[in-house]
Amino acid sequence: HSGKFPHQIVAKKIQSLLVADIKSVPIVVSEKCSVYDAVVTMFIEDVGTLFVVKEGGLLEGVISRKDLLKTTLGGQDIQKLPVGVVMTRMPNVLFTHTEESVWSAAWKLITHEVDALPVVRKVAQPDGSDGYEVVGRLSKTNITRLFVELGEGN
Ligand code: ADP
Repeated sequence: HSGKFPHQIVAKKIQSLLVADIKSVPIVVSEKCSVYDAVVTMFIEDVGTLFVVKEGGLLEGVISRKDLLKTTLGGQDIQKLPVGVVMTRMPNVLFTHTEESVWSAAWKLITHEVDALPVVRKVAQPDGSDGYEVVGRLSKTNITRLFVELGEGN
């Protein structure tokens, strides 16, 4: 007998799981990608969030469904408008890393009211600054899937 209440066992289990255990493949586009192509990519890849990267796969921004919808209200030519103009840009992008606990990453999703976080790896740049290579995606769907799996009790 562990001497723990069931909810403590559940909490311990959830806090021991890492982002690395449940992350998905990231869907990325270039900053020069048009809003039109971003919409097409969302449909083809069946995701709600795209990560925008510069050369070398370094994180530049995030683009969500609402960002794209908003641009359609402006009456601009979405075939010509680059996503770089409408995305949420670094340093305002929230991210996670493979060794962060799932609990802590889920806390970020809830408190900041976003649907997904890029999973990144820090890479030192030649000029001494930090770059963040996108290595995965953690979305509310990953958390929901985990919830279902934990509920199965295996
Ligand atoms: P949706 O637009 O589908 O509701 P979100 O709620 O995730 O999707 O996005 C809301 C806003 O937050 C958008 O402007 C988006 O660019 C921004 N956003 C999404 N994910 C992040 C993130 N990881 N870090 C910072 N901002 C984000």
